[in-house]
This record gives sequence, C-alpha cells and structure tokens, in this order.
Amino acid sequence: MLGLPAMTLPSHARVVVIGGGIIGTSVAYHLAKAGWKDTVLLERDRLTSGTTWHAAGLMVTFGSTSQTSTELRKYSRDLYAALEAETGQATGFKPVGFIEVASDEGRLEEYRRVSAFNRLHGIEVHELSPAEVKARFPLARVDDVLAGFYVPQDGRVNPVDVTMALAKGARLHGATLLENLPALDVVVKQGAVKGVVTPQGTIGCDVVVNCAGMWARQLGAKSGVALPLQAAEHYYLITEPLAEVSRDWPVLEDPGCYGYYREEGGGLMVGLFEPRCAPWKVEGIPEDFSFGEISPDWERMAPFLERAMSRVPLTREAGIKKFFCGPESFTPDLKPLIGEAPEVKNYFVAAGLNSIGILTGGGWGRALAHWVMHGQPDVDVTGVHVDRLQPYQATAAYRRARTVEALAGLRLPLPVEVAAHRARREALCPPPGARRRRRVLP
Ligand SMILES: Cc1cc2nc3c(=O)[nH]c(=O)nc-3n(C[C@H](O)[C@H](O)[C@H](O)COP(=O)(O)OP(=O)(O)OC[C@H]3O[C@@H](n4cnc5c(N)ncnc54)[C@H](O)[C@@H]3O)c2cc1C
Repeated sequence: MLGLPAMTLPSHARVVVIGGGIIGTSVAYHLAKAGWKDTVLLERDRLTSGTTWHAAGLMVTFGSTSQTSTELRKYSRDLYAALEAETGQATGFKPVGFIEVASDEGRLEEYRRVSAFNRLHGIEVHELSPAEVKARFPLARVDDVLAGFYVPQDGRVNPVDVTMALAKGARLHGATLLENLPALDVVVKQGAVKGVVTPQGTIGCDVVVNCAGMWARQLGAKSGVALPLQAAEHYYLITEPLAEVSRDWPVLEDPGCYGYYREEGGGLMVGLFEPRCAPWKVEGIPEDFSFGEISPDWERMAPFLERAMSRVPLTREAGIKKFFCGPESFTPDLKPLIGEAPEVKNYFVAAGLNSIGILTGGGWGRALAHWVMHGQPDVDVTGVHVDRLQPYQATAAYRRARTVEALAGLRLPLPVEVAAHRARREALCPPPGARRRRRVLP
C-alpha cells in the first residue's frame, strides 16, 4: 500500500494481537512474558494513537464491588509500579493517594459498603472527616461533604509511558510489534481463525485478539462477531498553573459534582462524568482518526462544568489552558467485552473499557493471555464475558439510545440507581429475539 514503509511480514504467528493501545500491548506483554514469544501485535498507526494517549491516568483501586475488577486493579497498580525496573521505561506511577467524597446519604452508604468490600480484598481504605479531606486537598470546598474515602497507595500514571513500558517489555520477551500496519480483515475458515489480512500480505495465525478499542466493533462485524460498544465524548479541563496547588496532593473525586481533580502541569485537571453524555460517530469510527480530539461542546457541558468546578472553587477563577474532549468506548452494561467470541473459534476480544482501561489494563492483559494459553481465564469472567451480549445490541439505534441511558447511571448513588434501573426494566419491553441465547456450544 502506498505510504506504508516496506517491512518483513512474518508468514505465521501463534497469536496476532490487533491494536496497540494499553490493552493490546498488555496482552502482548503477558503472552510473551509467559513464553508465547511467537506473538505479533499490529497497530494501524502508532502505539497509543487511539484513546490511550489522552487518558487522565487515574490509577485507582477503590470503587468496585466486583472481586475480579478489584483484583485486576490491584494487579495493574503493582505492575505499573514495577515495570520500570523490568524494562527501563518509566510509567509515571505516582502513589499520591486517592479520595472519593460523599456529599449525600446514598453515596455515604454506598462508599461504606465499597470500603468494606475493598478492605476484604486487601485495599487500605480510610474514612476521612470533611476536615481531614480539606487537610489533604486544601482547595476543596467541604461544607456539604459527609465523608471522604482515602486510599494512600492509589494515584496516577502516565498512560503513554505505561503503554510504552508494556510494549518494551513485550519486545524484550520476544514479541513482534508492528506499527503503521492495519489489520484489514480476519481470515475465518470453517468457523475458526486462520489469519489476519494486512496491506502487506496475510499473516497466518492460530489465535486473534481484537484489542482495537472503539474500532473493535467494526472490525468484529467483518467476521460476523457482534461487539456492542460505542464511543462517546469524554472531557477534562486543565487550568493554567496555580501557585496554591501541590503536586503531592491526592487525586480527589466527587461523583455528586460529576468531577475528579488532580494536579496537572502546576495547575488542576478537572475531569468530568456528565450525567447526560453524547455518543460519537454512531455510524462508524473514521479509520484515520489518530491522536484525535473532538471539538468541545461548551454549551452542552457548561452546567456540568460549573457544578464540577464548584467543588474546587478556585478553578472558576483560574485561566483555562485546555478543555479537552476525546472519545472513549462504552458498552450497554458498562462492563468490558472480554474473552472468546461465540461466533468464531479462537477469536478473542478485549475492548470496551468504559473509561477504566488504564487502571484495569495490566490485569485484563494478564487474564486474557492466560485464557488464550490455558483455555480458561485466571479470574471469574461471568460478568464480562463477551458472549453475554446480543447482536441486536450492536445496532446503531440501540447503541445511540443505550449509551446515553447507561452512562446516566454511572454516577448515581446506589439507591437512586437501583430504583431507576427497576423503573427502566419495568418500562422496557425487550425487542424480538432479545432473549435468544448467543453462546455457541462446541
Ligand atoms: C478523556 C479521557 C480520560 C480518561 N481517563 C482515564 C483514567 O484516568 N483512567 C483510566 O483507567 N482510564 C481512563 N480513560 C479510559 C482509557 O483511556 C481507555 O479505557 C483505554 O485507553 C482503552 O485502551 P484500548 O487499548 O482499549 O484502546 P485504544 O487506546 O484506542 O487502542 C486501540 C488501538 O487499536 C488500533 N487499531 C484500531 N483498529 C485497528 C486495526 N484494524 N488494525 C490495527 N490497529 C488498529 C488503534 O489505532 C488504537 O491504537 C480515559 C479516557 C478518556 C477519553
């Protein structure tokens, strides 16, 4: 193909990983480290060029009541802390701590339950008084805060550096990583993976792992694999430097104000989880969208931004350095799509990370690699198995509506979320065929 430098393409690989974001590099790293050196990773553009390059880098173990997610978060944090010693490439991991604040009774109850579950799994969670929150993050307004939940060992990473460290580790352990080389299609014969087509020829292979991020659905569809994920706008704002800000402050998160806050470049980053989101490019993600940004919708976001900034009032007076919007993939139930697709044998998937791909990426790479090598994962994947969803959930109409609905529930306090979910379930009538089981038995 014109524009692509000639390269020697292996004629065969045991595994071809498609996608060089944090997830694909993590899968390749774990396969190669475990001895499956005959692994080739294909990246359409350059490593991190999809979503990973612009992630905020929160590395947080607090917050889940899933044993699988909690264990994978812990594993990821430990891995990112250790990768530099193994590879020589820094990950930017800074254990500055993390505080989740509750400013209503629903969230207080929820975070106390989460804390108990997290402690059971070895995470050190401290419940803080409002004054203690203020002492650790002095710019926060705490007059309406009921409590904070503090994990001293959590913090932040640099997502590009983590990915580069995983890529370097994968290469050091023997994997081959090829950039500027898109996978055009997957060769399927008699219901099983046989190879991957690239502009420079076909690589025969035994296993494919689709880690193509927000492109994974389009790629899967070419092989008849239904991957119901949808990109949506995702925002953060970065202020000009502020003399009052310390680099050592913990990351602060307040779902009640739709925001999270951390130091960035001497100023503050205000990250947003708005309760009414905007799906992006429902008709299809452009093939050439690399290191891309979406023009921010100031009008839509202004009320959410205003509320987020009210938790740290000085951010309203600070100069705005950047209001960033980038796409992230979301799934209908906000759980990732992991495992062997029921439609095609040896077609594995790790995509749809729902805005926590950095803090779980090390773990999902390990679990997926284990599944490929041993025929089963090393964690309980009941809630995340790709075969739980149905093909109708990949239609444009469903993705457009469900992404808005699902993301609205992301930051609601537990009792409200449960009530809203029940109401929705009662109101909704499943479309024809919705109850058809998708799992294909061998
Ligand atoms: C604003 C923002 C802030 C975020 N902050 C955080 C955070 O603080 N913590 C956190 O945990 N997560 C965060 N996330 C989420 C996180 O960035 C993602 O979950 C994660 O980067 C997803 O990684 P991925 O590897 O699945 O996808 P990607 O990084 O998009 O990687 C997929 C790769 O596949 C390649 N590709 C696509 N098609 C093909 C093909 N046909 N052939 C070859 N290659 C292909 C693409 O070029 C791309 O490089 C944030 C996201 C956004 C948008």
